[in-house]
Amino acid sequence: MQKIKIGILGATGIVGQNYIRLLQDHPWFEIIDVAASPRSKGKKYSEAVKDKWAQPIMIPEVLSDLVVRDVSDIDKINKEVKFVFSAMDLPNKEDTRNVEFKYAERGIPVVSNSSANRWTADVPMLIPEINHDHINIIPVQQKNRGITNGGFVAVKPNCSLQSYMTPVYALMKAGYDVESCIITTLQAISGAGYPGVPSLDMIDNIVPYIGGEEKKSEEEPLKILGKAGSSGIENYSGIKISATCTRVPVTDGHMACVSLKFKNKVPSIDKIKAIWKSFKSVPQELNLPFAPAAPIIYMENENRPQPKKDRNNEKGMAITVGRLHEDHIFDIKFVALSHNTIRGAAGGGILNAELLVARGFIK
Ligand code: NAP
Repeated sequence: MQKIKIGILGATGIVGQNYIRLLQDHPWFEIIDVAASPRSKGKKYSEAVKDKWAQPIMIPEVLSDLVVRDVSDIDKINKEVKFVFSAMDLPNKEDTRNVEFKYAERGIPVVSNSSANRWTADVPMLIPEINHDHINIIPVQQKNRGITNGGFVAVKPNCSLQSYMTPVYALMKAGYDVESCIITTLQAISGAGYPGVPSLDMIDNIVPYIGGEEKKSEEEPLKILGKAGSSGIENYSGIKISATCTRVPVTDGHMACVSLKFKNKVPSIDKIKAIWKSFKSVPQELNLPFAPAAPIIYMENENRPQPKKDRNNEKGMAITVGRLHEDHIFDIKFVALSHNTIRGAAGGGILNAELLVARGFIK
């Protein structure tokens, strides 16, 4: 199969660099276009990213001489680009939203990591193991906006909720509706982008606040669990989530301590483990290249999961869960971990794109 040629908007940032690293040798996709801010415009990729390169590999040689475009110079995009990953962080969300739709209107699908379009009703916010069917809203989006050339925007949710959403959804899918959920996240520094939080705030410290993160952690799940309606995604209203989000001195890997109350019947601890261990969904059925064979890994050791030891499970695409117990106030509690820049960002975006290719939305 000839590879699909792609571009990366925000290619110089932490998430953009992860796309560069993870897409090396991807069986379906080949990067031929990189774009970032006006500061990077016109520079070779290796110069633009120079001191910011934070990946455990060298900059791939085939990309180091590629000239960086300004994301706003859409006319200069390589004409062979079939879709773009968006990992840009413009100063305001309105601008990001507009730039993403400008690409879509040009017939270039956008698979985004930005929060700008997450609450646009006709834009699907995807975790492919959960709401793969939300891609069916894309024709509605195209109709709403008069897009007739195949362009669209699809987004990924916030990295904070990746660790708990799939385990919670697996229980709901097995017939155990969840009524309420209390979550405390312990989020890695790389989640703040580069250069991120000042080192003097992070070393020997925990910061009990991440701007906007608690709202995202509480509200984005409602769209993800919603259903595709006639004009957009209709939110689910059957679950209440309360989140406290903290930044901890860990490089990669967002952890969440979760307490759940079920609506009706309460599954036994053994039943929950069995549900998680056997959970599979469409990405696994379609055998997508970035789909983890086991989307949820349960660890029996009392002291796991740990970011340093478990974030790379299934190449960073698995959710690792442990410490499942009955709870004295809620019904159960557990700890869950996901790699924020892989599953929670670039790897999650790649899985979304693979689903969109497999379903014929990206040609
Ligand atoms: P980052 O390291 O700060 O990178 C930001 C990128 O945006 C850089 O490529 C930067 O280009 C570009 N940019 C900045 N200002 C711009 C402008 N005015 N016009 C065009 N491009 C501009 O941020 P990040 O962590 O990679 O995050 C990127 C996006 O992904 C954000 O929306 C973030 O919320 C989201 N996200 C991040 C994570 C994570 O774990 N880090 C997880 C999920 C989602 P220059 O290098 O030229 O400045």
